[in-house]
Amino acid sequence: SIQGSTADSADGNKNAAQPFKPDVKSAEKQIKIGFAMDTLLEERWKKDRDLFAAAAERLGAEVIVKSAGGDDARQIAQAESMISEGVDVLVLVPHNAEATATIVNKAHKSGIKVLSYDRLVRNADVDLYVSFDNVEVGRLQAEAIVKLVPKGNYAYIGGAATDNNAHQFKDGVFEVLQPLIDRGEIRIVYDQWSKDWKPVHARENMREALNASGADGIDAVIVANDATAGGALEALEEFGLAGEIPVAGQDADLDAVRRIASGTQAMTVYKPIGRLAEDTARLAVALAKGEPTGATRRVNNGKIEVPSILLTPIAVDASNLDETVIADGFHSRQEVYGNG
Ligand code: BGC
Repeated sequence: SIQGSTADSADGNKNAAQPFKPDVKSAEKQIKIGFAMDTLLEERWKKDRDLFAAAAERLGAEVIVKSAGGDDARQIAQAESMISEGVDVLVLVPHNAEATATIVNKAHKSGIKVLSYDRLVRNADVDLYVSFDNVEVGRLQAEAIVKLVPKGNYAYIGGAATDNNAHQFKDGVFEVLQPLIDRGEIRIVYDQWSKDWKPVHARENMREALNASGADGIDAVIVANDATAGGALEALEEFGLAGEIPVAGQDADLDAVRRIASGTQAMTVYKPIGRLAEDTARLAVALAKGEPTGATRRVNNGKIEVPSILLTPIAVDASNLDETVIADGFHSRQEVYGNG
C-alpha cells in the first residue's frame, strides 16, 4: 500500500527489498487517529466521517471511527477504548460540551493530544479546535432574514443547549438582531433550544410558538440547522404557513437545498465539509508528530484560550445555489432540481 512509503525515503530502498524490517526505529511509524463522533444523524456527519477518513488515509494515517449515537456515557467509553488501543491523537466531536472534558483529561494522562472537531469541548485543555466561524454562521442567518423582514415578529428555534456551537450560532444571530430589537423594529416572540438537535423538538417548539402568537403573529423564523428547520416547517405547514414566512437554516442538507429551490426555506448556510475534514486530517497528523499547527485564532472554552482554526461559512439562497453547493459538488444539480 502507499501508506508509510514516504517515510522510507531517507533510508533509501534497502528496506523495501528485505522481507524483514528489524530496524523499525528509522522508519516512521504509522499514525493512528481515533475519530470519536457524537452522531451520524444529520446528513453532514456521514460526509465528515467519509471525507476525514479518506483524507487521513491519503496522508498515510490509520483512522478508527466510533459514533456515540448521542449518548454521553457511550461517547466517554468509546474514547477510553480508543485511548487504550493506543491511538496517537484523538479527534473528538463532543455530544456534550462539558461532559467530554473528562475525555480530554484522560487522553492527556496517556500523552494523547485532543483536537476538538467542529464543536468545542468546554473547560478542558483542548490542544486544537478546528471548525467554522460559528458566530458568523448565526450572523449570516440573521442578515439574510433581516433583509427579507426588516420589521416584525421573529421566532428563534435554537439547537441543543449542550452543544457549544448552538450558543455560538445564537450569539451571531442576536448580534445582528439586537440593535433592531432595541429600536423596536424587531420583536422576539419565541426563543427556545431544541433538545439534542432533534427535528421533533423543533416541530414542537414551532407549534408552541404558533399557538402562542396566532397565525399572523410570526413574520420570520430562524432555526439553528436544516434538520430542525425541517421540523419547524412541518409545524408551519400544519398552520398553512409553509412558504409564507421566511425560514433560515444551516448545513446545506440536500432536503433544505431542495426546499430553497422550491421556496419553502429562504436560506441555509453552507459549510464546506471537505475542507474541514482535510484540514483536520493534516492537523491531527501534525499534532501526533508534535509539529506546529499554525493555529492563529483563539477561542475561549471557559478554561483556556484554545488554539483554533476557523473556516468561513457561506450564506446560500436561491440566487447562489448553483455557484456554491452545486459548483462545489456538495450536491449535484440533478439531486437539487431533479429532472426538470
Ligand atoms: C453542527 C451542525 C449540526 C448540528 C447537529 C452542530 O454542532 O455545527 O452542523 O447540524 O451540530 O448535529
